[in-house]
Amino acid sequence: MSGILTYALHYEGAFNKNSLGAVSEGAKLAKEIGGEAGVVVVGGDDLTDELCQPLGAFGATKVYRAKAAEGLGAPVVDVMAKVITEEDYGYALFGGGLLGFEIGAGLTARLNAGVTMEVTEVKAQDGKLVAVRPILQDSAIVDVSYVSEPGIIIGRLNAFEAKEEAGGSAEVIDVDVQLEEHSTKAKMVKRGEQRGADVNIEDAKTLVAGGRGLGKAEGFDLCEDLAGALGGTVAATRAVVDAGWYPYAAQIGQTGKTVAPKLYLAAGISGAIQHKVGMQSSENIVAINKDPNAPIFEFSDLGVVGDLNKILPKLTEAVKAKKGG
Ligand SMILES: Cc1cc2nc3c(=O)[nH]c(=O)nc-3n(C[C@H](O)[C@H](O)[C@H](O)COP(=O)(O)OP(=O)(O)OC[C@H]3O[C@@H](n4cnc5c(N)ncnc54)[C@H](O)[C@@H]3O)c2cc1C
Repeated sequence: MSGILTYALHYEGAFNKNSLGAVSEGAKLAKEIGGEAGVVVVGGDDLTDELCQPLGAFGATKVYRAKAAEGLGAPVVDVMAKVITEEDYGYALFGGGLLGFEIGAGLTARLNAGVTMEVTEVKAQDGKLVAVRPILQDSAIVDVSYVSEPGIIIGRLNAFEAKEEAGGSAEVIDVDVQLEEHSTKAKMVKRGEQRGADVNIEDAKTLVAGGRGLGKAEGFDLCEDLAGALGGTVAATRAVVDAGWYPYAAQIGQTGKTVAPKLYLAAGISGAIQHKVGMQSSENIVAINKDPNAPIFEFSDLGVVGDLNKILPKLTEAVKAKKGG
């Protein structure tokens, strides 16, 4: 049996879009290799039949429902390990958010399975799955096959698209899982909203875009301060989106959005071709980079060579002073 098992994260009565992408992709592939399309959901009394059955519209045939804390990785590993072992699933597929990485890694260790991460496409070949992933900083693409089952596949964030079809109702099966002791030790204390998740960079007249040169997720505070002072919006490169520093909604480029603001300001961005294609029509391009040879200077109207940690706060101050605030 080579069914495909996915996990659907839910919050306040709705399933997460990234995990629904994995459910859709898993269901499509399960059809191709002739197996069950199973989905694990965990939570409390809020996980009603009315909430779970419609996962069938995304192609799920069976929904395995377990009582456990939602939003944490370890309990889901326990539930998925049990379902994979007892129901004989051949693969587990994840959409690639931080939780997907955590659960996928845990499952790999628990089941002594093979794992492929950063997967951008999955193919069905001779009744088996082949994971496709870029390597060597995305300069080459490789096909990865599994020598044994189960195989764990962790996609890149948003690599799989959620496809909903009218109708479709999945069978809901309650599973009783004895959680490992360590899986009950962590508690969800607070759930925060991911900042910038609803940004609209396409309509912004001013964009302050941040790249890996910001050093860490908190580095985006500098961009947000400047964007706030300018009345603009923060955008990002794929490198920082992949690193989980900023949401995909803010990504400019070949695999992100195309923008053409009046002012595009790049902070700590090298200017890779895949980024350039998404912002080259901007009216005024300003770049701050500590490397005088950074490619972004080749297509900037104004280039500032220096440390963004020093320049951005000064620029923010200057803009505020000019605006009298
Ligand atoms: C198929 C494919 C699709 C892709 N799609 C996209 C896409 O849609 N969008 C995208 O952006 N990329 C995309 N990429 C990735 C792209 O090739 C680059 O890897 C990425 O754009 C680099 O991001 P970055 O500029 O943030 O990081 P880096 O290339 O690492 O650049 C960081 C820059 O910060 C500078 N820096 C470091 N510290 C400081 C400091 N203190 N002060 C000032 N400057 C500093 C460095 O000099 C460097 O130039 C894609 C790649 C592939 C193969």
